[in-house]
Amino acid sequence: MDNLLFSDSFINGEFYSTASHFDIIDPATEQSITSVSDIDQAGVKQAINAAHGAFIKLKSTNATTRSAVLNRWYDLVIEHKQALAELMTKEQGKPLKEAQGEVEYGAGFIKWYAEQAKRSYGELIPATDDNHRLSSFKQPIGVVAGITPWNFPIAMVTRKVAPAYAAGCSFVLKPSEHTPLCALALAYLADQAGFEKGAFNVLLSENAKMVGELLTGSELVRKFTFTGSTGVGKQLLAQCAPTIKRTSMELGGNAPFIIFDNADLDEAVSGLMGAKFRNGGQTCVAANRIFVQRSALDQVLAKLTKKVAALKVANGFAKDSDIGPLIYPKAKQKVQELVADALAKGASKIGDDKDLGGNFQAPLILTDVTSEMDIYHQEVFGPVASIIAFDDEAEVLAMANDVPFGLAAYFYSQDIKQIYRVSEALEYGMVGINEGLISNPVAPFGGVKQSGLGREGGHQGLDEYLEEKYVCMKI
Ligand code: ADP
Repeated sequence: MDNLLFSDSFINGEFYSTASHFDIIDPATEQSITSVSDIDQAGVKQAINAAHGAFIKLKSTNATTRSAVLNRWYDLVIEHKQALAELMTKEQGKPLKEAQGEVEYGAGFIKWYAEQAKRSYGELIPATDDNHRLSSFKQPIGVVAGITPWNFPIAMVTRKVAPAYAAGCSFVLKPSEHTPLCALALAYLADQAGFEKGAFNVLLSENAKMVGELLTGSELVRKFTFTGSTGVGKQLLAQCAPTIKRTSMELGGNAPFIIFDNADLDEAVSGLMGAKFRNGGQTCVAANRIFVQRSALDQVLAKLTKKVAALKVANGFAKDSDIGPLIYPKAKQKVQELVADALAKGASKIGDDKDLGGNFQAPLILTDVTSEMDIYHQEVFGPVASIIAFDDEAEVLAMANDVPFGLAAYFYSQDIKQIYRVSEALEYGMVGINEGLISNPVAPFGGVKQSGLGREGGHQGLDEYLEEKYVCMKI
């Protein structure tokens, strides 16, 4: 791990240190992993200028060359998979096997966009008279700035930086102040792979507001991409308005997970375990409201209780750890407040929720959850499964859609007509049918309503970094 452990911002292909420092805390031990330097305003401006300089060069490179660089980056990430996974478990806490999975998943975006770089086709448009030839082609949008969260310290970075580079854009990234070490390691490997100096800059800061204001306020930054909470996303979107930046926003969700009584219940409960407890429940696509058709409720609860009881909560480096710590004390406090509110309003609890100490939170099942409870409306972002019984399809669809969010939804059914009806009726950007894990670099990830704007992954993810130019020629 040590050869990929850095502690300064990365600007124009070099480390940039400052006098002011902050600690990166291992959420499992609550000890400092390392102290990193906190970027100053001059550093942020330098990074934007470096990215602008890189963009001038990058925009005239060809796609085949950029594809080759991305392929080398991919190879290096895979070569350092174990070191990156260990770094991730240290700073983020997730079980090592999940961290290894995330390195592969994150690398998958680099590989995919190494291929897609070569496919940003233009169009010949049939002319409306004999004297004109009409066409359009795609060009990189310019300098991109991005802010990423702590729950997927590698995948959230590669799914933005890889398509941006594939398109010919340069990047200034501010990763979460809780997990910047993976982002730094990625930037170092990108540099080794042949990224132009300034093509990928990483800013470490505890003052997200200051960095965010400089990035969103800059005239040089033409595109802003954010993954994080809806509240912060709204604020950043407003900050992008005065300079009319293109934006991508991957914001919060409140995923329904619906189990119809005709479903294969074993499959449904297995799928739910992944959708609910992966990363300790700290994902924006995590099942947040679990709707179970009343006639299947007892069976589902029996199966789920058995599986939840078998989950091992431990330091992510411990063998067999299924759930690591939550990211920081405030996260655990929020989970406990939501549980207490639900219990006070009539929910019942299955599971032993004795305090495991530190940032560790025992997994729990809550039954009889209702829309009166805060946990129904807010992402719990922890290992708590909230169960709501329902009687028929119309009722569950109304409840599933009755939130201002629309990121991921899941349902289990074996009735083909119901599968069509429900997948069309769910007001969500992504739907898992008889599947609890749906993220994939080749598919468009994103939300509707207040869950965001734009798509990441798939061929759509490249267009987020391209402008289309229409050319009208008289002959
Ligand atoms: P979480 O609460 O899960 O950490 P946030 O939305 O607060 O989610 O954080 C996601 C990212 O947004 C992090 O990189 C964080 O530093 C950044 N962030 C938080 N507040 C601001 C802000 N006011 N301006 C810019 N970035 C911010």
